[in-house]
Amino acid sequence: MSTEEVLSIQDLRMKYDGRYVLNGIDLHVRRGEMIGYIGPNGAGKSTTVKIMLGLVEGYTGTVRIFGQDIADGSVEYKRRIGYVPEVAELYDQLTPAEYLTFTGELYGLSYEEAYEKAERLMECFDLGKVYHSRIATFSKGMRQKVLLISSLLHDPDLLFLDEPLSGLDANSVMVVKEILAKLSAAGTTIFYSSHIMDVVEKISSRIVLLADSRVVADGTFKELQQQSQEGSLEEVFNQLTGFHNHGAIADRFVSIIREGS
Ligand code: ADP
Ligand code: MG
Repeated sequence: MSTEEVLSIQDLRMKYDGRYVLNGIDLHVRRGEMIGYIGPNGAGKSTTVKIMLGLVEGYTGTVRIFGQDIADGSVEYKRRIGYVPEVAELYDQLTPAEYLTFTGELYGLSYEEAYEKAERLMECFDLGKVYHSRIATFSKGMRQKVLLISSLLHDPDLLFLDEPLSGLDANSVMVVKEILAKLSAAGTTIFYSSHIMDVVEKISSRIVLLADSRVVADGTFKELQQQSQEGSLEEVFNQLTGFHNHGAIADRFVSIIREGS
């Protein structure tokens, strides 16, 4: 791994409705790292990612990508970035061929190059036959694959993934995990935001755990395990976020469902 700093976040704060959802985040990421960015629902993971992509304003602190302060107005850095959003506006009336050549051209590819590359990548995901079908007819998993292709078509140096596996079946999850591992080994920096622990545990070179608007743990899976003296990442996560009452919540939930029966 190189020492080149691809991403640096300093004292990042963001308020919504008078409440801090990010309260002093510091994070420095080197080229080739695969960061697993985890935290409970509502912890601020997606907000962090959207700020880095220039999609959310009103934050304080400094975010540098490839050494450039993203607040300085230039959007050049975006050409070298790929993004799979948690909630995507895929244009339902378009076909993957239309959508992917459109996004490919935005990232600087020629139409022909984008068309052919996207077609071959669709075939890899078993979607060759629907390259010219409307996205409106696609399942969640098929849409997710189109988004993954769209984020990777231009071979980005830095890839942001926000819950990238949602809707994918087990075989596809294995393929995508393997793709990410190979990209990372070849120098792509990956920022993988998810609340699904088992995948993060397996693929991340470094795990950053967000809770209560702050980073509460940052290290390799082994380091986090030692810090909390727990086993799986899920257990480490529960301990570091102070969550122990899953049993009680489940009991209450089931008893409400079964009331009177
Ligand atoms: P995560 O991705 O970790 O689940 P988010 O970053 O989506 O969390 O949200 C963090 C917090 O910020 C949540 O409490 C959410 O309700 C709030 N939030 C996110 N986006 C907005 C918004 N546009 N306006 C108001 N509150 C928001
Ligand atoms: Mg989120």
